[in-house]
Amino acid sequence: MTQYQAAVIGGGPGGYIAAIQCAQRGLKTVLVEKLDLGGTCLNRGCIPTKTLLHSSDVFAEINHCKALGIEVSGDVGFKYKKIAKRKDKVVKQLRSGVEALVSGHGACIIRGEAVLTGPHTFKVENTEYEAENIILAAGSSPAFIPIPGAEHEAVLNSDGVLSLTECPESVTIIGGGVIGVEFATLFANLGKKVAIVEMMPSILYGNDPDICELMTYILTEEKGVEIHTNAKVCEIQKGHTVVYEENGVSQSIESELVVMAIGRKPETAALCPEAAGIKVTDRGFIEVDDHMRTNVPGIYAIGDITGKIQLAHVATAQGMVAADNAAGMDKTMKYDAVPSCIYTTPEIACVGLTEEKAKAQGIEIKTGKFDVSGNGRSLAINSSNGFAKIICDAKTEKIIGCHIVSANATEMIGEATLAIENGLTSDQLADTIHAHPTVSEILMEAAHDVHGLCCHKL
Ligand code: FAD
Repeated sequence: MTQYQAAVIGGGPGGYIAAIQCAQRGLKTVLVEKLDLGGTCLNRGCIPTKTLLHSSDVFAEINHCKALGIEVSGDVGFKYKKIAKRKDKVVKQLRSGVEALVSGHGACIIRGEAVLTGPHTFKVENTEYEAENIILAAGSSPAFIPIPGAEHEAVLNSDGVLSLTECPESVTIIGGGVIGVEFATLFANLGKKVAIVEMMPSILYGNDPDICELMTYILTEEKGVEIHTNAKVCEIQKGHTVVYEENGVSQSIESELVVMAIGRKPETAALCPEAAGIKVTDRGFIEVDDHMRTNVPGIYAIGDITGKIQLAHVATAQGMVAADNAAGMDKTMKYDAVPSCIYTTPEIACVGLTEEKAKAQGIEIKTGKFDVSGNGRSLAINSSNGFAKIICDAKTEKIIGCHIVSANATEMIGEATLAIENGLTSDQLADTIHAHPTVSEILMEAAHDVHGLCCHKL
C-alpha cells in the first residue's frame, strides 16, 4: 500500500492549496481529484460566472454609451457561443496553471474518486492508500427543491447555466441569493427578460437591508428584472412554467429557461465519512473545530464540505490552517473578517457584522455612511448608485463591519477587511490619506461620517 504523510481529497480552492502547503512544509503529499483541478470555483463557479459577467457588463455599457457622448452606429450585438468560448478559455488556462503548481510544489496527483475505508486509509478505484493525515476537501454541489417538475431536463442548476452555448430569451430564476442575483445580472445585461422568485422577504436576504433595497431598485427599475419576494415555488410545469404562491395567491411565470439557484449541499455521499467514524451534522456537513480537525485524530475537513462559509477564499484559508496543523503547527481559523462579494453592476462587497447582527450580539454601535453621488470618480465613470457604510463598536471605536455598493467595491473591500482584522478604529481609517479622485474615498468619507465630520456631506 502506498503511504503518504498527507492526503488531500478534492482539488478545489481549499484542497489544491492545502496540498501545496503540505508539500511546502515537507510532507509527502498526494492530492486526489475525481473531476477537474480547481473544483467548483474554477470550473463551475467563481471564475466562469465572473468571465461571463464581464462580457455582459461590457455589452450593457456599450448600449448605454450615449450617456458618455459616444455614438455607435448600427445595432450592437453579441454571439453567446463566443462569450461562452472565451469563458472556457479562461478556465482552461487557469486550470492548467493549477495542475502545474500542484506538481511543481512536489505533490502527487491521483485522478479518480476517493472513498474512505478507515481513519487513515482510502481507495481510489481498486487501489488502497494510507496517509497519516487526511484533509477532506470534497466541496459541494447544487441543491434542489423536491417539487413536482424540478427534475425536468429544461430546469438547470448553476452547472447547467454555465454550460449554455446559446443565450435564452427569457429566464426565471428560483432563488434570489448571490448566485441567483449574479445570473439575473448576466442575462439582464444581455437584454433578456429575467424574473426572480424568492421565498424570503427580499433578494440577498441577510445582507445589510440598504443593500437589498438598492439592488432591488437597480434590478427592477434600471434592468427591468421582475422580482417576486415572499413567493414560494410550488411546481414547475413542463420545464418552463414556474408556479408559485405570493401572499396566498397562486401565480405563474413562463420562460424559455428555468434556473434553480437555491443553495448547495455537501459532497459527502461518495466519500463515505462513516467508514472512518467521522461525525457529520444533520445536514450532512462534516463537523470541524477551529483547527479544522474532525472528531477523528489526523483527519481534517475544509471548505464547502464543512458548511461554515461557502466561499472560495474561506476554503483556501481553511486549507492553509489544516495543512499547517497536519505539519505539526498550531493554527486556528477566525471568521470575523471574511469579505464576501457579489458581482452585480454596480458591485456589492461586505465584511464583518451588519447593524442588525451587531445589535443582536448586544454591541452598541456607531455608523457612518457616504453616498457615491458625492464622489467625483464615481460620477466620472458614470456609476452614480451606491454607498459605503461603516459600522463601529461605540465603546472601542473599532470597525466591526463595512458594506459597500459601488463600482470596484469587490476590490475596495480588502481595505475594510484589513482594518477589521487588525482592530483599526474609524479614526485611523479616516486619517489615512486616500488618493483623489478614487472610488475608495467613499470609505474614508464614511469613516469621517461615524463622528459626523464628513466634509462632503451636509
Ligand atoms: P470545491 O471547489 O467544490 O472542490 C471540491 C473538489 O472535490 C471538486 O473538484 C470535486 O470534483 C472533488 N471531489 C469531490 N468528492 C471527491 C472524491 N470523493 N474524490 C476525489 N475528488 C472529489 N465563491 C467565492 O468566493 N466567490 C465567488 O465569486 C463565487 N462564485 C460562485 C459562483 C457559483 C455559480 C458557484 C456555484 C459557487 C461560487 N462560489 C464563489 C463558491 C465557491 O465556488 C466554493 O465556495 C468553493 O469552490 C469551495 O471550495 P472547496 O475547495 O471547498 O470545494
